[in-house]
Amino acid sequence: MFESDARHPLIERAVAPAASGFEDEEPPSQPRRHPLWKDVPDAQWDDWRWQTQNSIRSVRQLRTLLSFTPEELEALGELESEYKLAIPPYFFSLIDPEDPNDPIRLQSVPSPLEAESASGHELDDPLEEEKDSPVPGLTHRYSDRALLVTTPNCTMYCRYCTRKRATLTRGGWEGVSADDERMIQYVREHREIKDVIVSGGDPLTLPMGKLRYYLESLKAMKHVDVIRVGTRVPVTLPQRLYDPELIDLLGSAEKVYVQTHFNHPREVTPEAVRACKSLLRAGVPINNHTVLLKGVNDDVGTMRSLFRALLRAKVRPYYLFHCDPVTGAGHFRTSVWKGLEIMEGLRGHMSGIGIPTYVVDGPQGSGKIPILPNYLISMSDDVVVLRNYEGMIVRYKADDKPMSAGQPTTTKGVSGLLQGDKGSLIPEGNERMARRKPRVVRDGCGGGERDANSDGAAMRPIIPLPLLNSGNGNGNIASNG
Ligand code: SF4
Repeated sequence: MFESDARHPLIERAVAPAASGFEDEEPPSQPRRHPLWKDVPDAQWDDWRWQTQNSIRSVRQLRTLLSFTPEELEALGELESEYKLAIPPYFFSLIDPEDPNDPIRLQSVPSPLEAESASGHELDDPLEEEKDSPVPGLTHRYSDRALLVTTPNCTMYCRYCTRKRATLTRGGWEGVSADDERMIQYVREHREIKDVIVSGGDPLTLPMGKLRYYLESLKAMKHVDVIRVGTRVPVTLPQRLYDPELIDLLGSAEKVYVQTHFNHPREVTPEAVRACKSLLRAGVPINNHTVLLKGVNDDVGTMRSLFRALLRAKVRPYYLFHCDPVTGAGHFRTSVWKGLEIMEGLRGHMSGIGIPTYVVDGPQGSGKIPILPNYLISMSDDVVVLRNYEGMIVRYKADDKPMSAGQPTTTKGVSGLLQGDKGSLIPEGNERMARRKPRVVRDGCGGGERDANSDGAAMRPIIPLPLLNSGNGNGNIASNG
């Protein structure tokens, strides 16, 4: 433990890794309720107004429901004057009260770590949205897109929120919606804007009249093709989407997409699935953003389980965001290597439609930068050398150009693939390759022998198994060449 950790016993707790093992975090199959609300009639429980009115909004309420040390309570009391807190009974019921590292708890219950600066360089506005803001509340960074912050309010305040300065911070952007007409007028005058993100805070906390104003104003603009409503309501208060009037409004604006934000498989409850199905039935496509959060979802098994659950609900995993360096949220940040390790555990292991794009939002307003494990190993004029998810390394000849005729060179490994004397390098013990029976056929056109199991197009010439240990310093890679 570092000296700084010893100062704060919570650090060890907060950075404990997310649940280990694969596929061990499954979405709940039954609705859950904390015993405090067991006698609430279903009609009330399913009413979003009741959920909102009964949300937990103070440390005084929290201390009766979860255990805290005296030091934690003192720190939380101090934080309460700075940051808002709200957890609807529905979302609170997903917390395991016996587990201080519960992933739902970490996202929603304040932590004394919010008063600390994990790296020393967290920022209030890490994406520099306000520097690209020609009108208060509107960010115009990419020429064809605009972001509108329509409210500072949310149904649940996520402790890592990138826009914490506007949402969690008390008095943040309380008057922001006073600028709604200026935001709409700006979009009307900038015909290059094709895609508008109606965000916040959470726009589904707006009064219906205000939400209608935004959606109908944008819908009437011919140059706007897409309206994306960014909301965490399907996750934190799905009961809001049981309201047919709201579903009709979202469905009636044909340009509307919903961008939601599931972070953990336990959030994909029967209630959340019902809410998503209502949107889908109304013709509203749903894309999901997940934020990579230390202790919440920073392991391959949790992410696979989350993305599979979303696919079952017909919600498309769209982005996996690296957690931004936000003031008071540094303890949620992982390394970028952790994100790459997770992406490595997805591609090839689950359906491609369930794999989001992993992005880092770069500093100084540089925008979203996608990052991938490296599948391109090397290249020459004629060929590229690629690797697949199993570690099999192949030569891929992408066009009809003949291979360059250079000086014959004795070489091996990846260089051998570039020179054309091998087709692939295959990890020793690769089960799929071992299943193949060696079967050599003779090309009818006199082109020599080839492996009948290969497609022969891109990876020629592959000579059959048994796999040979290359003995060429490539560890457990055997050469097939
Ligand atoms: S719902 Fe969205 S805007 Fe609101 S606190 Fe969570 S991440 Fe921030």
